[in-house]
Amino acid sequence: MIQPRPWIIEIINSLNELGGQGTLEDIYLTIQERNNIDLESYVDWKSQIRKQIYLHSSDCDIFKGVAGDETDLFYPIEGKGKGFWGIRDFEPTVRNLDITEDDMEFEEGKRKLKQHIVRERNPQVIKLAKQRFKEMHGKLFCEICSFDFFEQYGEIGGDFIEGHHTIPVSELEEGQKTKIDDIALVCSNCHKMLHRRRPWLTKEELKKLINR
Ligand SMILES: [Zn+2]
Ligand SMILES: [Zn+2]
Repeated sequence: MIQPRPWIIEIINSLNELGGQGTLEDIYLTIQERNNIDLESYVDWKSQIRKQIYLHSSDCDIFKGVAGDETDLFYPIEGKGKGFWGIRDFEPTVRNLDITEDDMEFEEGKRKLKQHIVRERNPQVIKLAKQRFKEMHGKLFCEICSFDFFEQYGEIGGDFIEGHHTIPVSELEEGQKTKIDDIALVCSNCHKMLHRRRPWLTKEELKKLINR
């Protein structure tokens, strides 16, 4: 009989692989693929996973730890009941960050790029930035090229956009919080292009390139 701890480790590692957040289905699949637990020996291994998440989230009624301490591991990203979970203290690593080979050429830039992406993966700030953008414009689209994922891909593209931090990490003080104003909402292509030069292009510079 496996004790609860390995479940927790598998859930944390799976969420890290998923980039710090994922749906319950994502988590089930990842744990299955990792194949570190003999899932067949459990009557209902999925409910084991859910239970461990709920036990370690101060947003859930069965949580017994102290909010904000090391027992408080997970949080529901879009509120309770959505089956979408994130790690409270997600620490991106090169492995789970999806850094391209192109980025890897810049050894000194790697640490900064990581810090930059950590900020951009802050789900709270991105959520608020998206909310505000929708209130202002009625929908989401790329601030640089106007690409609209919903228009192009239909339902699956609904509510999708990437957040880019417009202030270079080098200009941020240690521990400084990301402000909504500093987040540009951009499509994946424009985002990659912004990061393609050192120092990174500004929104305006990239816009100019598109309109050349
Ligand atoms: Zn774009
Ligand atoms: Zn970016």
